[in-house]
Amino acid sequence: MAYVIVLDPGHGGDQDGGTFNSYIEKNMTLAVAKAMKTYLENFEGVTVYLTREDDRAMTIQDRLDFAKAVNADYFISLHFNLSSLHTLYGSEVWIPSKSSYYNKMYGFADNVMQNFDAMGLYNRGIKTRLGKNGDYYGVIRIGTEYGIPSCIIEHCHMDNARDTFAIPVNEKGAFNSALANFGVKDGEALAKFLKLKSTSLGIDYSNYQSSQYKTKKSIVAPDETEPDVNEISLVSTDAAKGKVTINMHAVDKDSFILYYMVSLDGGNTFATLKDWPRSSWNKSLDDFAITLDVPRGKELNIVTGAVNSFDKITLSNVLNVKALSLTVDSKTTGDNNVESIDVKSITEAVEDISSRQVETITYDNILNEAPSNALGKAGSVSLFATCSVLLLVLMLAIAGKIFRKR
Ligand SMILES: [Zn+2]
Repeated sequence: MAYVIVLDPGHGGDQDGGTFNSYIEKNMTLAVAKAMKTYLENFEGVTVYLTREDDRAMTIQDRLDFAKAVNADYFISLHFNLSSLHTLYGSEVWIPSKSSYYNKMYGFADNVMQNFDAMGLYNRGIKTRLGKNGDYYGVIRIGTEYGIPSCIIEHCHMDNARDTFAIPVNEKGAFNSALANFGVKDGEALAKFLKLKSTSLGIDYSNYQSSQYKTKKSIVAPDETEPDVNEISLVSTDAAKGKVTINMHAVDKDSFILYYMVSLDGGNTFATLKDWPRSSWNKSLDDFAITLDVPRGKELNIVTGAVNSFDKITLSNVLNVKALSLTVDSKTTGDNNVESIDVKSITEAVEDISSRQVETITYDNILNEAPSNALGKAGSVSLFATCSVLLLVLMLAIAGKIFRKR
């Protein structure tokens, strides 16, 4: 069996994709794609093409037309992510919603995610996203139309410290080898999936079993709803140490719980998102306890947010904790006050963005991957990042409404 693989370095030319500090997505995706191609070419029975080998603009349609012209068996689009509020983190793979294509891409996506897990990156899931005309992402939608199973790998977020260890910029050499490493890892994931063999590397994946996913539904739809339950309860307080332990309980029957965030002031401000523990990558724990460092001599109104893998949030009940009578000196600072997010200002910023964005993203904009048209002033944010942003917008808008009611 000989495979034709098309690798697609996202963005290019006047389309930078996401940019943050010194990160420029179009350059990063090209470096990963080149390394992935070089690695894969060590294997027998595979021909690899890139949609672009240099810094040039291409439409989504161009990219898939190229894949069709070379008779691609698989189309893999490579990206890096960011969110406008710099709050989200982790890696994800988007795959087709049509079940036969979903099933085809799932094993590869799972291999990719396993590598990211091993690197210490956080798994945001293997997911689908629907738009008005089928799959939301143009490369996946047109790929399915052309009979080419396609996916988008969002390697990590370039604007969140939880991820940027994987793309260190302090030294050019380290940065380049980190990008090359992503290419090798993605290549390895594909070589395993296709059961390839390399005489030159002495690697034989012909017996490798990638995980299989077989759904009976015709469409694998994303989770459109918030987590079903999010409840917190008091476990204990430790006045001497200024600590409060609470039990977190959240359930989402459609997906898994990805992050949590905590507010001590009734939901006015939240600390940054944190990992929600899981028993396996796609199964979150229903219950776990966290211990909070709390400010001294203050009444607390603890509220948490549970965020699912589609970035939808459910706020918890309010847990009122009377001011702890503290006897120890107050040199401990509650780490929940550090890096706190002012939800009110976020909500305003978000409403400002959403009024421009939500209505203006159209089928054509998605198809042509033209973030500068679709996003107005936020043109430097990649289309894919924007999706995360829009989800966050929705989640914060919901949060905002709830807060205003209180
Ligand atoms: Zn991108």
